[in-house]
Amino acid sequence: MSALIELKDITKVYTMGENKLTVLDHVSLKIDEGDFVAIMGPSGSGKSTLMNLIGCLDVSTSGQYIFDGRDISNYNEDELALFRRHELGFIFQQFNLLSYFDAAENVALPLLYSEGRIEKEKSNHLLSRVGLETRADHLPREMSGGQQQRVAIARALINKPKLILADEPTGNLDSQSEKQVMEILRELNAMGMTIVMVTHEDEIGEQSNRIIRMRDGKIISDTRNKPLPQRPEIEVSLKENKHGVLSLEEHFRQGMKQLMSNKIRTFLSVLGVLIGVASVVTMMAIGTGAQKAIESQLSSMGANLLMVRTGVMRSAGAATQAGSTALLYEEDADALKNKFPQIVDAASSLEGRGQVVYKNKNWNSSILGVGEEYYDLRSMKVMEGRKFTEEENRKRARVALIGATVYRELFGGKNALGEFIKINKTNFQVVGLLEEKGSSGFRDQDDVILVPIETAKRRLFGRTTIDSIDVQIANDTDTTDLEEEIRTFLNTRHKIPVASQEEAFRVWNMADMKKAIEASTQTMTVLLTVIAAISLVVGGIGIMNIMLVSVKERTKEIGLRKAVGATGRDILNQFLVESVVVGIVGGVMGILTGVTFAIVLNAFSGWSTSISIVSVVISFVFSLVIGLLFGVYPARTASKLHPIEALRYE
Ligand code: ADP
Ligand code: MG
Repeated sequence: MSALIELKDITKVYTMGENKLTVLDHVSLKIDEGDFVAIMGPSGSGKSTLMNLIGCLDVSTSGQYIFDGRDISNYNEDELALFRRHELGFIFQQFNLLSYFDAAENVALPLLYSEGRIEKEKSNHLLSRVGLETRADHLPREMSGGQQQRVAIARALINKPKLILADEPTGNLDSQSEKQVMEILRELNAMGMTIVMVTHEDEIGEQSNRIIRMRDGKIISDTRNKPLPQRPEIEVSLKENKHGVLSLEEHFRQGMKQLMSNKIRTFLSVLGVLIGVASVVTMMAIGTGAQKAIESQLSSMGANLLMVRTGVMRSAGAATQAGSTALLYEEDADALKNKFPQIVDAASSLEGRGQVVYKNKNWNSSILGVGEEYYDLRSMKVMEGRKFTEEENRKRARVALIGATVYRELFGGKNALGEFIKINKTNFQVVGLLEEKGSSGFRDQDDVILVPIETAKRRLFGRTTIDSIDVQIANDTDTTDLEEEIRTFLNTRHKIPVASQEEAFRVWNMADMKKAIEASTQTMTVLLTVIAAISLVVGGIGIMNIMLVSVKERTKEIGLRKAVGATGRDILNQFLVESVVVGIVGGVMGILTGVTFAIVLNAFSGWSTSISIVSVVISFVFSLVIGLLFGVYPARTASKLHPIEALRYE
């Protein structure tokens, strides 16, 4: 009959700096199937080291290990994990139960790796075998040490191992529990289970069939007190070392269970992602809303509008200086109207900033000097009061029309018509209120004051030039040709030198303006979104931080999971799933928060927001990726832990 275990010349050397410590010194040993062996000896003699080598939790420095005819000395880590999973059951002095699993789940834990899922029902008959059928749903902290150790024995049996390894199984137990545990072990042996046990108590050791004594890493005696139980020899067929593939669903169930076992910590890391995602969603909603507002406003102005403005001339000419601007006058508007039959109407305007005061209220606004034609071209409507008269313009009367924002800031709901306000220290009478237009992107179109164009020129800004001419053209005009012709006309009229003719005057059509405003809105949106995305990354770092703490805290648990057969990959997946779940939960909650926020902004502030599906999808994917990315490092750290070092970690 061949031995179940055969160790040949096993040596284990620990190197600590310069010192080499030989813990096992050429140990050779055979253990037969069905035997019950006790390894005894003083503390530090190498019992646990030998046990860990037999249990494949550690590897020897030299020597050969044959198990059931298989040479496993050269197995790699994954092969050893599979070997432990299917052939071995461990019982530890410290029980090593998972604190957030009840008894039945603890017993079934190895099934997670051998079969891909934890089936508590399979624990029941094992729990009754160790006399704990009534404790199935108790957590470890609700059980005595003896009960916990019996749960651990049931766990060791669940995969029907060939060999049970018990390192000081009674070391932490009172004498009553000690008796119960030994009884169970003897029963198991009587049923044919091979058991190797470490103990330093003689009365425990005497209950075995064979006692091996060690000292200083060597076997010093090997005595048999009871004969090897004789059983008909059965041809043992090797179990197939197949991977139990954890289903995605089981992964998530396990991840959720772990996360729920530490609610505050999980909540905090979810919060980090939540804030990041919510701000990204809100910022993108504001950006998209701005875009849409611009579009609707521009389209309300009509497609047949051109804007003539002056440009900066880069090249010097005879009549101009480099860097100066060409000058535009109100007369140019009339000249354009007369010259081109396609031009239906032309409106001059000039613009400046002004400090506006009403009683104790102060506001800084945009002041526009406009003529009669301006309202129609810009689709501005007077809501209350009236427009300026021709006479008021000629006489440079100090009258003003105010936009909704200015009205709100200065009058706050009270009557404004007929009141006097100061613009840049000059008194103006309010003769009308403009209809609200809403904001266009990040620019408030209602933050404006209109004054007669002559008043603006002479009384407010002290100049005779204007800033732009809005030109309305007949419906079926080809604008590209007209734009060019207008520029040529103005260049000739103002005697602009050839070198500067390209830049002196600019003619914008609606599409140009749309593009220009959109570009600036987009820049703003991108900027804000990037800032929001940074907070999302900070949230991700939060996840990483918490996962790293979690790996540290659960080092012992990782050691145990590896002992019962988890591969590095299993552990990696476990931690990755946890951080991805945090990312996803934070993502979903963040999207909901962001959407709510965008809706509230839309309703209660002047900002128009619009939530796009794309932004929601992007944020979701992003939070998932954040969870994955920032989970990888902690998960890898966990998966690389050495089983025996992890188990020993305090
Ligand atoms: P015991 O017979 O008490 O179970 P061990 O097998 O645990 O003894 O330890 C045997 C010797 O090996 C001890 O002197 C211990 O200090 C040493 N030892 C165990 N593990 C390590 C390690 N990871 N690094 C260095 N020395 C170790
Ligand atoms: Mg020991």
